[in-house]
Amino acid sequence: MKSLSERDQKHLWHPLTQHKLHPKMLGIVKAKGVVLYDEQGKEYIDGISSWYTCMYGHCNDAIIAKVYAQMQQLDQVVFSGFTHEPAIALSEALISLLPSNQEKLFFSDNGSTSTEIGIKMALQYHHNKGKKRTVLLAFEDGFHGDTFGAMSVSSLSVYNGPFEDYFIDVKRIPVPTDDNIGSLLHELEKTLDLDAIAGFIYEPLVQGAAAMKMHRAEHLEKILKVIKSHGVLAIADEVMTGFGKTGRHFASDYMVVKPDIICMSKALTAGMLPMAVTSCTQEVYDAFYSDEIAKGLFHGHTYTANPLACAAALAGIELLTSEGIQKNIGQIIQWHQEFDAEIKDHPKVASTRQIGIIYALDLNIAMERYGNVRDRLFKHFMDSGVFLRPLGNTIYILAPYITTKEQMQKIYNSIKEVLNSF
Ligand SMILES: *Cc1c(COP(=O)(O)O)cnc(C)c1O
Repeated sequence: MKSLSERDQKHLWHPLTQHKLHPKMLGIVKAKGVVLYDEQGKEYIDGISSWYTCMYGHCNDAIIAKVYAQMQQLDQVVFSGFTHEPAIALSEALISLLPSNQEKLFFSDNGSTSTEIGIKMALQYHHNKGKKRTVLLAFEDGFHGDTFGAMSVSSLSVYNGPFEDYFIDVKRIPVPTDDNIGSLLHELEKTLDLDAIAGFIYEPLVQGAAAMKMHRAEHLEKILKVIKSHGVLAIADEVMTGFGKTGRHFASDYMVVKPDIICMSKALTAGMLPMAVTSCTQEVYDAFYSDEIAKGLFHGHTYTANPLACAAALAGIELLTSEGIQKNIGQIIQWHQEFDAEIKDHPKVASTRQIGIIYALDLNIAMERYGNVRDRLFKHFMDSGVFLRPLGNTIYILAPYITTKEQMQKIYNSIKEVLNSF
């Protein structure tokens, strides 16, 4: 019998992969709780929750039970002209979890489509009101997905080269810091005075793909205040930050000024099934509500509001709001703080940062001198049974809420070993 790793190479094309340089994938046969099992039987602690999705653990029994029950009742139905209990129950649960100004939900299938829809909502909102606003505002170093609108507003451009000629017009602003916030706001006012900006899309407080770069809520608050006073819609991309990771249900909960539109996916369905939601305020929705058909939002995916995915999302929200998970989140926050105190002065640590259960550290190592540091780090972690996925010089932890102290200690120890190995 050939291994998964060998059979994989015949027909499969993997995401974000240059196959000539990285031909070999690791075959995973099972996942349970915080642990992944490969085809050799080796175990790995999933220190990044499989890209921030399975926050309540893999193959969670409570979620499986709800999805299984739904499977026997209603699997899939067109969501145009029809509706169903799982979508309605999810809308009620999600609206009560979201910032209080959110009123309407639009479903899609992944994070990129959730931001794509947020962008289309913002552009058409102004169009429907007879205003010509065709430019989007976005942070430098932002990441919002891989569809065209999402790529346009993302600025990690290594991926975007062949497509840049087809992008939406975007104006970028730097991520706010204590040093630049004054000049940033000053420049922003000038840009906004042109009345061309339709929406501002941003990853609130943490930029995931930019290696968990963080900014302060009070700075973002000021930016939101200014853009909203100029009629620009605030589009919070909470695809990564949503559902408890920052220590609140949504990163937007740290600000008084609330977004007009919120994009969600990843942990929305607890890692069980793919789905996304773009929520908006009544005011945004009302700009589309009209006797004219053309003022509607003519966007729709075949699997919109798939009942099984809705059931998984509902089960996830039930877990998130449970006393047990909320207690776990508080504990992980504290463990990270203790770990941080232990390592932040290590000579190989340049800086550390934390919000909620997201913890990141930058290595104080010259990349060129040590060759491919990132690959060396990755290999070390995997060899020690910990799945962490360093981004450049940054190591970060985003482990499931159900990670035990012992499992987290294993992650910390693996990081300490690597720090001492340079
Ligand atoms: C992952 C991510 C996306 C894209 O989501 P996909 O499901 O991979 O398309 C968009 N925005 C942010 C902030 C993300 O972390």
